[in-house]
Amino acid sequence: MRFQSNKMAAIPPYMFAELNKKKASLLESGVDVIDLGIGDPDLPTPTHIVEKLIEEIQRPENSKYPSFIGDRRFRQAVANFYKKRFDVDLNPDTEVLALIGSKEGIAHIVPTLINPGDHVLIPDPGYPPYRTATYLAEGKVYDMPLKKEFNYQPNFSAIPEEVLASSKLMFLNYPGNPTTATVDADFFTNAISFAESQNIVIAHDSAYNMVTFEDYKAPSILQADGAKKVAVEFGSLSKTYSMTGYRIGYVVGNKEIIKALSVYKSNIDTGQFTPIQLAAAHALNSDQSCTQKHSKIYEARMQAMTKGLKEIGIEVPPPKGSFFIWAPVPEGYTSTEFATAVLDQAGVIVTPGNAFGPSGEGYFRISLSVPSDILHEAINRIKKNIKITSK
Ligand SMILES: *Cc1c(COP(=O)(O)O)cnc(C)c1O
Repeated sequence: MRFQSNKMAAIPPYMFAELNKKKASLLESGVDVIDLGIGDPDLPTPTHIVEKLIEEIQRPENSKYPSFIGDRRFRQAVANFYKKRFDVDLNPDTEVLALIGSKEGIAHIVPTLINPGDHVLIPDPGYPPYRTATYLAEGKVYDMPLKKEFNYQPNFSAIPEEVLASSKLMFLNYPGNPTTATVDADFFTNAISFAESQNIVIAHDSAYNMVTFEDYKAPSILQADGAKKVAVEFGSLSKTYSMTGYRIGYVVGNKEIIKALSVYKSNIDTGQFTPIQLAAAHALNSDQSCTQKHSKIYEARMQAMTKGLKEIGIEVPPPKGSFFIWAPVPEGYTSTEFATAVLDQAGVIVTPGNAFGPSGEGYFRISLSVPSDILHEAINRIKKNIKITSK
């Protein structure tokens, strides 16, 4: 008897699930592993959000099935947040949809929009679900290489005509995971006019829109003229408010796309638990000092880590957003070789860049979701155990 479909048999295992297995076996053998792999905030969810959840969970009416499109109060909070933060007007009834974490929406928008055989344009390197969701929807991935010398922005004019002709959807992600790249509003204006001219939907993943440093403020793609004609933007409470485990996010923008995605989803899930949506609404409606406080902490770690890397011969320009460092591997290693050496010889998990797509080869990613003293310890272990000749 066979227990998986052909499609499942061919899907590569989710990279972080694999890393977790290796980590577990090392921990079991007594190695004190430092995990700079997965991006999961160590900072606690701010108290006012947790308290709101506790309050709402005690109301009997909240134990019922939630609304398919999300609680009106959550959708209104997202609209308020967009108005305040980006000066973008959203109709909470037609232009906002609640998600069970943005990953859920990212995975489901692909089969909502494409037919088997259609192309999906994805950032390479990029967040792995863009690729796997396309595969599961029987679409074709077209990797848009993101190069350091072009600030990790795709070159739209390099996409072949025949690919464009069968492309229905493009993913973008700034501040970027794993590249940490940030863009200004002009980039989105260009992307929107390109997408409109080619009849391609843009799905912008803005998971790190509030995790930014110094005075950089990440723009929303919906600030670009005409964006609502072709674009949606995914947002997440996960990184901003340290709420990864809550599983709450949203998608905003073009109302036809939002409608179609809500129909798709209504056949699969029945929405997120109402108290979680109301805690998330409270997070968005409250003053944002907690997010500034968290960003300051990530920024200090980022500075400590770029300094530490520099001391061991790895030069990285300090990013303006996200909570990662995207660094070139030292001379003489591939991404996999370096990540393996660092794990086996120094007991430190970093993510090999090629896990995010072919153009990630030659890089590794460090997550800043551990305290500074542990980051220092990681650098010391690498310094002591790994031979690095600078390029
Ligand atoms: C973490 C992350 C997400 C997923 O966020 P959830 O809302 O927790 O599902 C989406 N996109 C990128 C780029 C991320 O790094």
